[in-house]
Amino acid sequence: MLSTLTRLQKIFRLEAERGYDNHAVVGGLERMLDHWEAEARAEGVPEELIQAIVFRLRDYAQLSSSARKEALEGLWRRVQRTMGTGEKAEAPAPAETAPPSPTPESPAAVQPAAVPQTAPASDEPIAEAKEPPALAGEPYQPPRLAPRSVRVGEPAALNASVTVLPGVGPRNAKTLNRLGIFTLRDMLYHFPRRYNDYSRMTPIRDLRYGQVVSVVGTVQSATTRSLRGGQVQISEAILSDGSGALRLVWFNPWIARRLEPETQITVSGKVDQYLGRLVMNNPEWEPVDQQHLSTGRIVPVYPLTAQITQQWLRKMMAQVVSYWAPRVADPLPEKILTAAQLMDLPTALQQAHFPDSWEQLEAARQRLAFDEIFLLQLGILRQKQAWQSQPGRVFTPPQDLLQRQISRLPFALTQAQERALEDIWQDLQSGHPMNRLLQGDVGSGKTLVAALAMMAVVAHGAQTALLAPTSILAEQHYKNLVQFFCTPDESGFTFLAPEQIGLLIGALSEKEKQALRDGLQQGQIKVVIGTHALLEDPVAFADLQLVVIDEQHRFGVEQRAQLRQKGNNPHLLVMTATPIPRSLALTIFGDLDLTLMDELPPGRQVVSTHLLLPKERERAYTLIRSQVQQGHQAFIIYPLIEEKENDEVKAAVADHARLQQEIFPDLRIGLLHGRMSAEEKEQVMRQFRDRQLDLLVSTSVVEVGVDVPNATVMLIEGANRFGLAQLHQFRGRVGRGSDKSFCLLIPDTADSAENERLNAMVETNNGFILAERDLQQRGPGEFLGTRQAGFTDFQLAGLVNLQVIEKARRLAQEFFAEDPDLRAPEHQLLAQALQQAWGNQKGDLS
Ligand code: ADP
Ligand code: MG
Repeated sequence: MLSTLTRLQKIFRLEAERGYDNHAVVGGLERMLDHWEAEARAEGVPEELIQAIVFRLRDYAQLSSSARKEALEGLWRRVQRTMGTGEKAEAPAPAETAPPSPTPESPAAVQPAAVPQTAPASDEPIAEAKEPPALAGEPYQPPRLAPRSVRVGEPAALNASVTVLPGVGPRNAKTLNRLGIFTLRDMLYHFPRRYNDYSRMTPIRDLRYGQVVSVVGTVQSATTRSLRGGQVQISEAILSDGSGALRLVWFNPWIARRLEPETQITVSGKVDQYLGRLVMNNPEWEPVDQQHLSTGRIVPVYPLTAQITQQWLRKMMAQVVSYWAPRVADPLPEKILTAAQLMDLPTALQQAHFPDSWEQLEAARQRLAFDEIFLLQLGILRQKQAWQSQPGRVFTPPQDLLQRQISRLPFALTQAQERALEDIWQDLQSGHPMNRLLQGDVGSGKTLVAALAMMAVVAHGAQTALLAPTSILAEQHYKNLVQFFCTPDESGFTFLAPEQIGLLIGALSEKEKQALRDGLQQGQIKVVIGTHALLEDPVAFADLQLVVIDEQHRFGVEQRAQLRQKGNNPHLLVMTATPIPRSLALTIFGDLDLTLMDELPPGRQVVSTHLLLPKERERAYTLIRSQVQQGHQAFIIYPLIEEKENDEVKAAVADHARLQQEIFPDLRIGLLHGRMSAEEKEQVMRQFRDRQLDLLVSTSVVEVGVDVPNATVMLIEGANRFGLAQLHQFRGRVGRGSDKSFCLLIPDTADSAENERLNAMVETNNGFILAERDLQQRGPGEFLGTRQAGFTDFQLAGLVNLQVIEKARRLAQEFFAEDPDLRAPEHQLLAQALQQAWGNQKGDLS
């Protein structure tokens, strides 16, 4: 044996004898690596082996002693396999001195024994940097240890950190955190993004090109081969099942080393063809005698993050789901389960992760969706009741004043605006606080409605606040409202003096803020416009009676509650330009009364919308150039590509550079994306508004509601990746001035069905029609945008099902009528679940 390996063996043995105390080498095993690595290379030890050893030993000091034992034994087996020295006697760990190894159990023992683990949880590498593909084929090892320090059967145990899982230490926990997984419960509710159906087992003889199947067979041979003069190494294996033989190929040299000839494995994947023979490329595989997680079944595909492989996460999930799902207490009372014909929660959780069939999966989805909607409804009903039981000050609309103000406008109110005002006047006189959602398409004139409502309240001496999602929008509203309230009429009358209107944004100096606070507290300031800063500010009002929230979806229930507290049950008017179909609106905004403004002011010019092929992009650039030459500005939007947020940023950044260098070197081009801070974004938006930029390249973060009347072109790249409702929102950014405006959609696919879908944008300018279509085509998850919704796609999948919605709503109402305070003992779990759902805002989409 090579001397560097002999030395390694001696060190490993010594370590084992010492009980893995990391003293076999003075200063720790990692100390030997530097010179050992160079010597081993000089001696001709294969590079992969060197890398594996170096990689594994580098953080040896951080491993628990059992993990050290595993690491050394594993490495030594690898040395033997690689060097072909089969001498079993050379195994480094004499059994007597090694710490007791955990009892290996049959695959059925995936339920970890209920013995608490005392050793600290160690991080097993989720994906080794040097050989990530190898892990992709790593066979599943049944977990052997129980989650520790949690009491079985106690629901609170689900709140335990994921570090109680064997194999998850602080490092892996951090990685999981990035997926939003902190506790065991989070783990259970981290649902697959999709599933691969590998449940069809097929004899090799019956395989057909293009099928996605699972095959069970015996490994005949497994070898590593070099391609392209050694540049690429692949693993190749022959699998036979008595009916035929199938070639398997992995573009990864490590797999062949793990495939022992004569062992039985299951492989799953797509049947391909190479030189007339059938072959499977990069199939998933598992030894037959282990529990099948990745092959031979409907396989979950989870959302991942860097440093986590599907295989690893599946393995963890199997452990958590099989042990914990049956121990989850079902919060739904028996009566409701029966009435709604639902699967019980433990089964639903199991089936959602590892479904036995598509039918079971569907039932699981329905159950989980029901939970969401039911809890949402209960919470909403409770809030609504709480609010409606409060008194609200009565405000009679000062009709003369209002009419005078309206008559000064250069236009007449639309009928939709009139109707909205009627609704508001009724609410203000009802004796209870108003809770109204004003839904109106972009440009339908919601701000004016809000301004008149504010006027009605201020006319009676009370105060009002308007909340906007960004400073730039707040400033815009401030400017408009000052003009609206402070311009004298022909008789010289002004409704308010400019000092009576305030703007509170984060950028103010402490002194300015203090002046505002004083004005609001003493009541001289009647109208204040602000951002979140207004919520967070200790500001107190003398008499806050109306709160208006613009672009509602940015504010949650909690923030609405926060604002209410600043007044004494003030009236609340929320506005959104996202048209939401009624079925969904009832579910999501059930606590608010709904007013639709489904009419645009007359004479509003229609944005000329065109669908272009990617090869016609030049035409779009020509249009942009000519518009800029006429003094106008343009937006270019980039989509989120798949679930990789970074790609979106990258695409925008790359194209910004390309446009600047190659296409429009003479233009001033700004860039806006989600990685920028709020201030940076606002800075760019401001430059664009103030015409310091000709072109704004942006990801989908471009602000809603900001008025840049001079912008006349909206070019949307990868348009097929957006929903119609969102495209419509983008389109609403242009056509706000008097000049003819254009919306250009460039899909990145020639798919005719997709382009058919996009054609709806060309056909109609009506946001509600587009929203309805969008909901039908993509389902509510996509429709609402999961990021803003706070629901996962999976949970929202159930929302498509109107029946589920209706059922959940009806049962929630019945239930609420019976036990509004959830006092009954059998409703305690539900009360807890409700607390959880609403406590962390999960139930709030608004
Ligand atoms: P949004 O509903 O998108 O917030 P805005 O309130 O910003 O729309 O209104 C868009 C523009 O339409 C504003 O310039 C506003 O002055 C104007 N506007 C509002 N109501 C009418 C109307 N009845 N007729 C004509 N223009 C109107
Ligand atoms: Mg608006």
